[in-house]
Amino acid sequence: SIKGQYGKHFAAYDDNLRRGLLRRQAITDVMEDALAEGQFEIYLQPKYSIRDEKLAGAEALVRWNHPEWGMQSPAEFIPLFEQNGFITKLDQFVWNRACACLREWDDKGYPPISISVNVSRADIYQADITDLLAKTVKRYGLSPERLHLEITESAYTENPEQLIQTVGDLRDLGFVVEMDDFGSGYSSLNMISKMPIDVLKLDMKFIQNETAKRLKGGILRFIIDLARWMKLSVVAEGVETREQLERLREIGCDYVQGYYFARPSPCGEFEQMLQRWQWRPEREAGPLDGVC
Ligand code: C2E
Ligand code: MG
Ligand code: MG
Ligand code: MG
Repeated sequence: SIKGQYGKHFAAYDDNLRRGLLRRQAITDVMEDALAEGQFEIYLQPKYSIRDEKLAGAEALVRWNHPEWGMQSPAEFIPLFEQNGFITKLDQFVWNRACACLREWDDKGYPPISISVNVSRADIYQADITDLLAKTVKRYGLSPERLHLEITESAYTENPEQLIQTVGDLRDLGFVVEMDDFGSGYSSLNMISKMPIDVLKLDMKFIQNETAKRLKGGILRFIIDLARWMKLSVVAEGVETREQLERLREIGCDYVQGYYFARPSPCGEFEQMLQRWQWRPEREAGPLDGVC
């Protein structure tokens, strides 16, 4: 019978399902304490300006170092936190930490970079989101354009009218709004023409799936030309090789981010990059050497 034939597989499926549920429950049980106990931290990954040939900013990426479980992957816990609502609290922590770093570096006299923070779909549809973000930068005496807001592409389809309104309000306040993961599947050309964003952040599959030759001619070049025509700047993420960087430069990409330059690292380590690359970019060894 069907049941006899597949019973074993159903049992295995049930087992996996149960393990997954237990795991999710375990994370949910400890997340509040984890935040209170300082287990979450932000890492920063540099963003490099191709035109200016220097460090232009960073993206803040949350990291969770659990004392027993070790480093947890955002790819696992972020989707769960988006479902159980904890993401709004965690993201506020991330935004505050990013602002605190900017404040500290301003006080030390570094040139003013910007930090891009991720804004979850759960955050962006909150009624007081513009207020909340405005208060956050104000708390640290920063102007809003120092904080770039990355809103993932898939969030734009949920309630486009409301999002157009919110993004417009945020830009009126002076925030820079970036569409993250552009091209990963949900956006339409219609959507980006209506959405008052500043930056297209290309999904890394674009860069990593393309061979060098296709990168030069194909869809990526078309998107960059389109972005230019719409007066949007373009960030390519997931840049891992010199060759990818050179192709992106040829087709007119504005900013790049990826392991070729640096992996995300704690704020203290990032500060050392600020010292090396912002002040004397032309004299330092490392992957940026020869680029500058
Ligand atoms: P994302 O915002 O698109 O971030 C880019 C991801 O690509 C990061 O993974 C980053 O570490 C990784 N990455 C950067 N350069 C390279 C590269 O050259 N090659 C490869 N293979 N990967 C690269 P991460 O930190 O694991 O974050 C995954 C996703 O989790 C993020 O994607 C974002 O959607 C979400 N996320 C991370 N931190 C936060 C946060 O603080 N708040 C929210 N709401 N979401 C976050
Ligand atoms: Mg992002
Ligand atoms: Mg992205
Ligand atoms: Mg993403």
